[in-house]
Amino acid sequence: MRYVCVFCGSSPGARPAYADAARALGSSLVAAGVGLVYGGAQVGLMGIVADTVMSAGGAVVGVIPRSLEEREIAHTGLTELRVVGSMHERKAAMADLADGFIALPGGMGTMEEMFEILTWAQLGMHRKPCGLLEVEGYFAALLAFIDHMVAERFLHPDHRAMLQVDSDPARLLEAFRTYQPIAVAKWIDRGET
Ligand code: AMP
Repeated sequence: MRYVCVFCGSSPGARPAYADAARALGSSLVAAGVGLVYGGAQVGLMGIVADTVMSAGGAVVGVIPRSLEEREIAHTGLTELRVVGSMHERKAAMADLADGFIALPGGMGTMEEMFEILTWAQLGMHRKPCGLLEVEGYFAALLAFIDHMVAERFLHPDHRAMLQVDSDPARLLEAFRTYQPIAVAKWIDRGET
């Protein structure tokens, strides 16, 4: 694993625990010899993860669309900053560069990015590990809803299992190393209308 992509809030969130988790994840990436790919901003948890990795001597590639370069304040102190034409290009570039994906707490942007990458995984478009770094139960309601999708037969349990969850970043990265993707057909109850 050369690079892991981190999706996270462009805000710091309401609790200091979120920033602490961003720093812990940054340190774990460097300790594991893994570079960071992320959205290229200086703001919120995004800036905290990037600063942590840079100051610990790790590699950081930021990918930011031109339209957000000023609003999210592009980070100018990265190993590499790629300025791209659109949000779509940003996500495609991050997906190509990374060998795995981790979401920290965040808002709509974080969720959109993580769910897109999960939908690509369940369609077999990539075989890279995906995980949530849980912080003080932030994702509990989301995970309950995902379990509801399984119970209501809109999501295959094997696809649910593609989303790994841990509150310890080093353990999550270790699980990524041994991740064995399984190929399961996307469609449930097809033709049984
Ligand atoms: P948020 O979690 O809403 O604070 O957003 C986190 C990051 O996701 C920010 O860099 C946003 O610019 C980015 N983002 C929001 N919406 C999208 C989108 N549709 N495609 C790509 N990135 C997005």
